[in-house]
Amino acid sequence: MSTSEIQTFDLHAEHHRINRNSWLRASVMGANDGIVSVSSLMLGFIASNANNHTIVLAGIAGLVAGAMSMAAGEYVSVQSQKDTEQADLAQEAHEIEHNYEFELGELTAIYVERGLTETLAAQVAQELMEKDALGAHARDELGLHEISRARPLQAAGSSAAAFSVGAGLPLLTAIFVPNTWLFGSVITTTLLALVVLGGLAAWTGGASLIRGASRVLIWGVLAMAATSAIGHLFGINA
Ligand SMILES: [Zn+2]
Repeated sequence: MSTSEIQTFDLHAEHHRINRNSWLRASVMGANDGIVSVSSLMLGFIASNANNHTIVLAGIAGLVAGAMSMAAGEYVSVQSQKDTEQADLAQEAHEIEHNYEFELGELTAIYVERGLTETLAAQVAQELMEKDALGAHARDELGLHEISRARPLQAAGSSAAAFSVGAGLPLLTAIFVPNTWLFGSVITTTLLALVVLGGLAAWTGGASLIRGASRVLIWGVLAMAATSAIGHLFGINA
């Protein structure tokens, strides 16, 4: 390949699944949480013979509370990951500034371990450290790649959005379906959505679709059965 061809080479021509899969998987799990927790919550109210206004209100409260707690949890955990990354990078920058030769040797050893000859490894390490020493160490020593860098706000936002989309399904059912059909409709839409989401989650992980779907389905049914029983109990005593 000529120098000009290399310089104009499109580094991102092919799309790799790795960066899509982790995002898709987190969204599917978030949506799954939204469906199970809000439909179960609403089934409890439906089983207690609450009126439609109360059921919809419970659904909205469940959606907002769940989305906020998902966002908070995701933000805190990804932020602590980001803190760790930044502490490692600061330490690495300090090492490069005070122990340049040692760091050069370290990077050379990493490339030798990956299969380069010592001469070539030393040359590659030398040139990469001249161009961007911290970037080279972050990538090849710490394994921190731009693609997988911790983004707390993005993570919080996408998990809250996924939860809300999931929770929106039983909520819309409660808004549009008359009370007499509500119990059966919420259960049906929830189970259908869980089958699709369970299969999707399994597909992103390369696992069996049927096993993935049935796993999510079983937990969904258990959650809905538990809250319906409690709601029914409260309904009788009301
Ligand atoms: Zn280093």
